[in-house]
Amino acid sequence: MFEKITIIGIGLIGSSLIHGIRKAGLAKKIIAADIDSGVCETVKKLEIADAVMTDIRQSVVGSDLVILSIPVGAYASVGEQISPTLKAGAIVTDAGSVKQSIIDVFLPLMPDSVQFVPGHPIAGTEYSGPESGFAELFEGRWCILTPLPNTNIKAVEQVTKLWETLGSQIEIMNPKHHDLVLGITSHLPHLIAYTIVGTAEDLEDDIMSEVIKFSASGFRDFTRIASSDPVMWRDVFLNNRDAVLEILQRFTEDLTAVQRAIRRGDGQFLFDTFSRTRHIRREIIEQGQADYKAPGGVIQEGTPPVEALHTKSVRVE
Ligand code: NAP
Repeated sequence: MFEKITIIGIGLIGSSLIHGIRKAGLAKKIIAADIDSGVCETVKKLEIADAVMTDIRQSVVGSDLVILSIPVGAYASVGEQISPTLKAGAIVTDAGSVKQSIIDVFLPLMPDSVQFVPGHPIAGTEYSGPESGFAELFEGRWCILTPLPNTNIKAVEQVTKLWETLGSQIEIMNPKHHDLVLGITSHLPHLIAYTIVGTAEDLEDDIMSEVIKFSASGFRDFTRIASSDPVMWRDVFLNNRDAVLEILQRFTEDLTAVQRAIRRGDGQFLFDTFSRTRHIRREIIEQGQADYKAPGGVIQEGTPPVEALHTKSVRVE
């Protein structure tokens, strides 16, 4: 489908893309580029790309498709580096978790001869780094594309085909709407997880050891989410500020209502609130979004455990 694909940023998403693209035979040549020489060394050892380099500018020369899987805060720097060396007619797409701020920063840096098709795979784990990727990560997941009114339709179709071949379903969305939806489904839950685990961490040492010892599923699940990459999530919150603050305001109001019900002993309010929300879990299960396909094709619930990802060194903080 493509002669040459360059993937910039070889972490969880970038390495999963390489595995998936190789498995599906979507490119004759795959170039992997990352700012981190240690990451490049690991990618070389994994032998998953045709060339691996830290020279971002050079990495895109002659490529028909360039995919950015870098932290949201790195788009300006990468855009400045690649804009002079991108091939005329090339398509650039990305996996960034925030869309509007990326478009604002990155699009003006792109030459007129290049098409930028912003994207976001709704797939991931709490692991990061080049060894955490696997080809099946995108199977059965949504990928949201947020093209602009003047984006070339052929470029959108090619990016759509890429993600569909990797097993994803495509939804086209307005970038601002994307940021609001993801604010509630992904960004707020991460913020709550980071905060609740941080609150536990601030407890005195003796209580903290009991928190770990008697950790029940609720807290355990929060610790999984709160072990996600801090650079990625710092950049998400700095770049989706308005949507996150709006959702956070609503959440705070709802939390205050629950707090008042507990203080007043209003069991009916608590029961009604907790009953109202159960159907959302059922719908997520019914739509096949509660599990993942592990390497080998086995369906599992939740996100993959580290051993299922053949991961030797994970950056879980
Ligand atoms: P990751 O595992 O941390 O990998 C990102 C890689 O990009 C790292 O190797 C990093 O190098 C490298 N990098 C940082 N700045 C760079 C630059 N200026 N030029 C080239 N490479 C650079 O991150 P990820 O989880 O794959 O996420 C990548 C993107 O996908 C992010 O925009 C994220 O929002 C999005 N996304 C993530 C998930 C998820 O669940 N993880 C899901 C959907 C979308 P260092 O070693 O220096 O950090």
